This record gives sequence, C-alpha cells and structure tokens, in this order.
Amino acid sequence: MAKQRTLAILKPDCVRKGLIGEVIRRIQEAGFTIKAMKMTRLTKQTAGGFYAVHREKPFFDELTTFMSSGPCVPVVLEKENAIEDFRKLIGATNPANAEEGTIRRDFADSMGENIVHGSDSEENGRIEAAYFFAESELVANES
Ligand code: GDP
Repeated sequence: MAKQRTLAILKPDCVRKGLIGEVIRRIQEAGFTIKAMKMTRLTKQTAGGFYAVHREKPFFDELTTFMSSGPCVPVVLEKENAIEDFRKLIGATNPANAEEGTIRRDFADSMGENIVHGSDSEENGRIEAAYFFAESELVANES
C-alpha cells in the first residue's frame, strides 16, 4: 500500500498538560514518520477557518475558543494507511467512547477538549497541512 499523509494537531489541552512528548512517543511507536512539525497559536478567526465545516454547529464557538486558548502543535505524519491508522490510534471524538489504550481515552477530559486532531480523509489532510505549512516545508521533507 502506498504511503499516505495525515495532519495531526496536538491541541492546546495537550500542550497545557505537558503531554507533547508522550503523545509524539506514541505516534512514533505506532510507526508514523514526522514530516513537518511546529508550535503555533491559532486566533479565534484562524481556528474558525480550520474548522469551517463546523461553522453552523452549536459547539462552534466553544471549539474555536478552546483551539485559540493556547499554543498547539500541528504535525504532518506519514505512514501506509495513515488516515485510518491515526484515527484508530487517537480513538473516538468523545473520550468516553474511545477504545482503551487510545490517546483520547487515556488523556482527554471531554468531547471538546480531546487532546489531538487527525484528518478524516487524504484530501482533507492535504488541505489541512497547507493551512499550517508552506509548500516548501512539505516538499522539502518528501521521501
Ligand atoms: P474529530 O474528527 O474526531 O476531531 O471530530 P469532529 O470532526 O466531529 O469534531 C471536530 C472537533 O470539534 C472535535 O475533535 C472536538 O474538539 C469538537 N467537538 C465535536 N463535537 C463537540 C461537542 O459536542 N462539543 C464540543 N465542545 N466540542 C465538540
């Protein structure tokens, strides 16, 4: 199977809880290669752009307030079957429903503050990676 990329974000709760290292360790242990990574802080507006598909949802304001509440760490990851495998590694959106041993089950407090984002398709992964990284940063690390 061909290699795939996905865009992960270690969300502000992950950074605040001092879990960057632990989450990256689990990601690498699961066989993902880091292709790009940075620490940045979204504004309420840029968080809204990233989550534009949720603009009409009742939790949109809470989501964008949370995502702009502190620094986050976007990471481009590569692996065979990366999209599906990463979503398995992080678990269900609501940590109460996430399988045991998943990142969200082990570390997330709630449906909103759930430690990590993972793209839901290869196309969205490309769009989301471009939201945080310049084309030159993505191309420079092509294998
Ligand atoms: P994901 O793909 O598993 O991240 O889930 P979704 O695409 O459905 O939702 C995107 C993000 O919005 C989630 O990761 C949560 O941070 C947030 N979210 C989803 N549902 C809720 C909710 O009911 N309440 C709050 N506060 N946030 C939510």
